[in-house]
Amino acid sequence: MSEASPGVDPASYLQRLLDGGVLIATGVDGVYGRSAAFEDVVERLDALITRAGRNDGAEVLRFPPAITQRDFEMSGYLHSFPHLAGTVHSFCGDERAHREILRCVGEGEDWTAGQKIAGLVLTPAACYPVYPVMAKRGGLPGQGRLVDVYSYCFRREPSLDPTRLQLFRMREYVRLGTPEQCLEFRETWLERGQALIASLGLPLEIDVANDPFFGRAGEIMAENQRRQKLKFELLIPVADPARPTACLSFNYHSDHFGQVWDIRTPDGALGHTACVGFGMERITLALFKHHGLDPAAWPEAVRAALWSRDRTPAA
Ligand code: ATP
Ligand code: ZN
Repeated sequence: MSEASPGVDPASYLQRLLDGGVLIATGVDGVYGRSAAFEDVVERLDALITRAGRNDGAEVLRFPPAITQRDFEMSGYLHSFPHLAGTVHSFCGDERAHREILRCVGEGEDWTAGQKIAGLVLTPAACYPVYPVMAKRGGLPGQGRLVDVYSYCFRREPSLDPTRLQLFRMREYVRLGTPEQCLEFRETWLERGQALIASLGLPLEIDVANDPFFGRAGEIMAENQRRQKLKFELLIPVADPARPTACLSFNYHSDHFGQVWDIRTPDGALGHTACVGFGMERITLALFKHHGLDPAAWPEAVRAALWSRDRTPAA
């Protein structure tokens, strides 16, 4: 899969990262181990994002990186992105079936035919577990709700571009409330996101964007999304200077999740939702690209932004 413009090969940045031990190959494109230095930056970035939102009083929730099959089906993800989803399957057979699996593995045949869905789907975006949980609480309070989530996510999009991973982390703030509350939230984070990335010495631009909807109907959905300016992205040149990478997304879902989960505001109207998503690996890879593979040698201002407030309480 090549998305590079002529003459620029994102795979060369991947090779640099593998050669430098920053990422560790597993044999599957888009699935890598991470070095201690890489993880340290991810952790500092996580703390920086916490500091950026600390006065908002977000409720912190953490979920494992899978959602229930039912919540997944309800969410509409299959409608829009069937090609990206990863389902969890397990062996549920008897001893005879077990022997058959071992025979298949031994003979290099497909052994997965008898695997059954385990009632779980890998989380495609960190905010997906939030909506059903909030719906179970009943109506939204007058001030709406604000949730802070962080999860590994899976999307089946194997690539040699190191910024397009199959397993990656997304930190999100999720807003539920009136349209005004959601749009105000998105404006605030558009500003904060730019300030945060600028403080890390990274070049950036903001653009209207669309999600990678599946199929012909998807083209129309993408067009609508762009026309209504439902999604903005903060882009940073990373693996391919000619095609900057979306490192933060600012999404307004209108009343999509409100309808799906029947989430309502105190006046009985459907709740609207919005989220800001930080692609933790993408921002980290942008830092390594622009400042070099050794964080100890990064510019002082960048190091200060990430490390100097180590002992400042994050909340
Ligand atoms: P893209 O358009 O590049 O596929 P997206 O706009 O669909 O990404 P979102 O669904 O908005 O991405 O996800 C929120 C954030 O998660 C993105 O801004 C990005 O930083 C990160 N992200 C999305 N897909 C990937 C991926 N395959 N690998 C690494 N990070 C990703
Ligand atoms: Zn989200």
